[in-house]
Amino acid sequence: MSEKKKYSFKCLEQNCTNRVCCTRPHVSVTIGDLARWSAQGYLDHILPGVTINVPKSEGESFSMETIRKPLNGDGKEGESAGDACIFFHKESNACTIRYSRPISCRTFPLLYNGEKFVLSDKSCPGIGQGEVTKEALKEARDLAEQEYHERMETVAALPAVYALIMSHMLRQSAEAMKNLSEEDRKKLEEIMSKTPAKEENTGVQDDSQEGASAN
Ligand code: SF4
Ligand code: SF4
Repeated sequence: MSEKKKYSFKCLEQNCTNRVCCTRPHVSVTIGDLARWSAQGYLDHILPGVTINVPKSEGESFSMETIRKPLNGDGKEGESAGDACIFFHKESNACTIRYSRPISCRTFPLLYNGEKFVLSDKSCPGIGQGEVTKEALKEARDLAEQEYHERMETVAALPAVYALIMSHMLRQSAEAMKNLSEEDRKKLEEIMSKTPAKEENTGVQDDSQEGASAN
């Protein structure tokens, strides 16, 4: 049975005319998404497309989201108008990880902000399409609430996760240095002394630096 509700929605998928879900400036990823991808065996495949943003100032928080890519070949990364989520495939107008999208994509455009349900982007052409049953509406709201709680938990957990990743990386590079022969170590020191400092692509992003995944 269907009934008229405030929120009716049907995703137009590959027939969508604007894919605002995939071109929104931030596609958040939660610790819950990581856990799900890990359990499903997709983590190694999806994780390279995810980045952690380090706060630039005291008022900001850590966040985790999908990396951006320019939509057009001549676009510059970091430009919101021409960017999309790295998993968006423009030619087929589809998501390449449709089988296990982040929870923020599954709830889009319905968003729970901790107090009420809102539409995060009214230009999504799926809004007003189809009819939503009472059960489907409840399901959509439950998922939006879950997304909100996962997002909040992720913001709280990210500083510790970041510290863990950094200490793991430091341990790995210390280990690698230990295993270098004296000759290789000298060569490396020589190279380092001539090479200007450059950010390594670690999947962890410091917003204070220009980078491939900057937002
Ligand atoms: S969620 Fe909205 S914007 Fe995204 S594909 Fe579906 S209809 Fe289009
Ligand atoms: S993960 Fe897929 S659905 Fe979500 S924003 Fe990226 S391309 Fe779009």
